[in-house]
Amino acid sequence: MSLRVIPEVAPVTDDDAFRREIRDWLATNLTDELRGAGGPGRENEAFPQRLAFARRLAEGGWTTLAWPVAHGGRGAPLQRQVIFHEEYARAGAPSRVDHIGTTMVGPTLIALGTPRQRDRFLPAIAAVDQLWCQGYSEPGAGSDLAGVTTRARLDGGRWVLTGQKVWTSLAHVADWCFVLARTEPAPPGGPRHAGLSYLLVPMRQPGITVRPIRQLTGDSEFNEVFFDDATTEAGLVVGEPGQGWRVAMATLAFERGAATVGQQVGFQRDLDDLVAVARRTGATTDPALRDRLTRAWIDLSVLRAHTLRSLTEDLPAGSSVIKLLWTRWRQGLGDLAMDVLAAGDAGPEATERWQRYFLFTRADTIYGGSNEIQRGIVAERVLGLPRQARG
Ligand SMILES: Cc1cc2nc3c(=O)[nH]c(=O)nc-3n(C[C@H](O)[C@H](O)[C@H](O)COP(=O)(O)OP(=O)(O)OC[C@H]3O[C@@H](n4cnc5c(N)ncnc54)[C@H](O)[C@@H]3O)c2cc1C
Repeated sequence: MSLRVIPEVAPVTDDDAFRREIRDWLATNLTDELRGAGGPGRENEAFPQRLAFARRLAEGGWTTLAWPVAHGGRGAPLQRQVIFHEEYARAGAPSRVDHIGTTMVGPTLIALGTPRQRDRFLPAIAAVDQLWCQGYSEPGAGSDLAGVTTRARLDGGRWVLTGQKVWTSLAHVADWCFVLARTEPAPPGGPRHAGLSYLLVPMRQPGITVRPIRQLTGDSEFNEVFFDDATTEAGLVVGEPGQGWRVAMATLAFERGAATVGQQVGFQRDLDDLVAVARRTGATTDPALRDRLTRAWIDLSVLRAHTLRSLTEDLPAGSSVIKLLWTRWRQGLGDLAMDVLAAGDAGPEATERWQRYFLFTRADTIYGGSNEIQRGIVAERVLGLPRQARG
């Protein structure tokens, strides 16, 4: 007698229903011209169309999925946020133009802003009616952020700002900027970051000049921003004046999160695309390139497993390790792409795309805290090595 094998039926959970909801939404709203638009080194690509798409996402309640319901969000648990980012990336939906507002300053205002600040800004951020940029880095203060010298003083009920920021992504399209500025001198012998404040500054005013910086890719995604007696209202300081460091660090912590999972689904698409190019150029018959393509897949599987684990477990220097792993992976894919292109004719479109990818990924190990800084964190916090002398 043969046994009848009864196929196992996976229980339908609310998460499955949620996955279907976002899939359906994307199937209805994502047009072909938007698929794959934007991304590393392509922030200016199809910008008006991506902005319109972000506004549609907002109408669907997707931009504020992670925000608490009390602040206009959907209060989605981490698992649902992961599902959203997975499906978004899997569908090839465009790179988001609203991320600085919805994932950085919005959550910061929810956690540390005043009720007035929240009422004023959160609805516009959620609706993507307002775009933001991040004014931290300066010519003399990047890794050493406590060294910012942009100053702000209270004068006649307003903050007046003078100084310069640099590498300010999307400042050319931003309506507002969150600026780390010195409002009080650092106490002698005290921490250097004391006396800094976190100010919300409107970008469209005579005291602000935005000068684009031309990048290696030929594009200009970031800028120099000059403050010459630029002003903002006295009430637009987040947290206490002089205590902005804590707020600035909170914003950076919000930057990393469930979106990292979606980023890695995007990496999988990049790898799949490169394998398709490798088939065209004949690189798949080269044993060394086959080996590197295979290793890229394996390393990505490990990276993904580690990232998912880090979302629910407090791993040592968790976000630093992820940053080190993904930047090494993506730069490695850029290097590999150059060798895949060299193996044969990939056609002009693929050649342009992968050359741009290779060039842009040089920046991966610099922004979001350079890899040297991340290794320093691992050295000191995990291995307990002596603190490095600071210049
Ligand atoms: C694509 C891109 C987008 C960016 N967008 C923004 C933005 O929107 N807003 C913003 O404020 N900034 C932005 N930045 C700036 C970014 O945060 C800084 O470039 C970064 O913090 C490094 O600072 P820096 O460029 O001043 O280099 P530095 O801090 O001067 O570092 C120079 C080199 O020295 C190394 N180094 C420095 N200190 C140490 C140390 N203690 N130990 C070991 N090595 C060290 C660094 O790793 C690096 O290799 C962006 C940068 C890039 C590339």
